[in-house]
Amino acid sequence: MQNEKLLTFVQGMSRLLQSNPTEPTILKEGAELLATLVQKDDWLPEMFTHPHPQHYQQYLLYADPLDRFSMVSFVWGPGQKTPVHDHMTWGLIGMLRGQEIDTHYFKQADGSYHAGESNTLVPGAVGSVSPATHDVHVVSNYYADQPSISIHVYGGNIGRISRHVFDPVTGAPKDFISGYSNAVVPNLWN
Ligand code: FE
Repeated sequence: MQNEKLLTFVQGMSRLLQSNPTEPTILKEGAELLATLVQKDDWLPEMFTHPHPQHYQQYLLYADPLDRFSMVSFVWGPGQKTPVHDHMTWGLIGMLRGQEIDTHYFKQADGSYHAGESNTLVPGAVGSVSPATHDVHVVSNYYADQPSISIHVYGGNIGRISRHVFDPVTGAPKDFISGYSNAVVPNLWN
């Protein structure tokens, strides 16, 4: 079956979240499930790998009917990067193809956001975001001349969650909803 690895991950996440675990447990055990999924780059259907020349793409791979989690193929064109933004829910980032740079930002006493350390995610690596500790970041494609792809998992329907981009200097927030780039999702039921 073509989407067997994806289905196995979806089943694993569903089982994990069924027991209402704490966020640290989700981040730890979810990261292990995601690391298994991105260990080998041989399962992502080709239609969810296409970059866009102007902006990064977010292809929905699966969304839990109870909004407990959603899953996106995040495709970076050469040199593309996000603004400073938050998620309003936990998130896991599994690097599948290429590399990306994940820089967390931290709110200062004057309201501005300052960059913390940057992590370069290599294939197979898993990063995270968490409203409790590190929800604000900037992510960019490591490469200026080739696409990169990471698999993101969030604790809600990320395409419909109202969240924020920030002006790092003033800290001023602006609301946004990211949506999804695709009209069809992988068939896990065939
Ligand atoms: Fe993000």
